[in-house]
Amino acid sequence: MKINHWSTLLGASLLVLGLAPQLGRAFEDQTVVATGPATIWVNGSFPVENFQGYTSPFGYRVSPTGGYTTEFHSGLDFAAPDGSYIRSWWSGRVIEVSDHTACGTTVRVQSGSWIHIYCHLRGRVARDAQGSYIDDRGSGLQIRQGQTIDSGQRIGRVGMTGRTTGPHLHWTLRYEGKLVDPAVVLRAMYAAQRQGTTLSQQSF
Ligand SMILES: [Zn+2]
Repeated sequence: MKINHWSTLLGASLLVLGLAPQLGRAFEDQTVVATGPATIWVNGSFPVENFQGYTSPFGYRVSPTGGYTTEFHSGLDFAAPDGSYIRSWWSGRVIEVSDHTACGTTVRVQSGSWIHIYCHLRGRVARDAQGSYIDDRGSGLQIRQGQTIDSGQRIGRVGMTGRTTGPHLHWTLRYEGKLVDPAVVLRAMYAAQRQGTTLSQQSF
């Protein structure tokens, strides 16, 4: 099956790059990622439009809302203006839409062994005869639990639902159930896309 095929490639890419066992440290070593042969990564989409900056990295941090305590931040935060469109990182299936956790209005997408999670979206979960979907009037979207989506497809808009101090996308990645630092994946994508540019320039 196609999905399993590229999922295996992605997993193999992480292993080839030596990242899978030590993700927390490995992402500091950009040369490891940049020299990898993982051209599969060119298929990934940057997950938000109107990107303004990274506001909180993956890992331990001081709580943004709770004073002096530390907490584990399970994803990467992207600042973007309220209402900016969010794009699916990879093709896959929407396995859950929800709006009852600190993550706020949430879309979870499964792509083989990967799960990518998008938090704090605009809108609320609604239900009709076909099932659950995100009701975000004015977005022009109606993302449904169970539907398939393409890489780069718009799946929602940046909002402030759940536990957040400002409009941003919180993006979490899991591979075979384990959290992955999204910065590792973004760096691999940039490296693959740079290689692609170089190759096409050389061919002219
Ligand atoms: Zn976050």
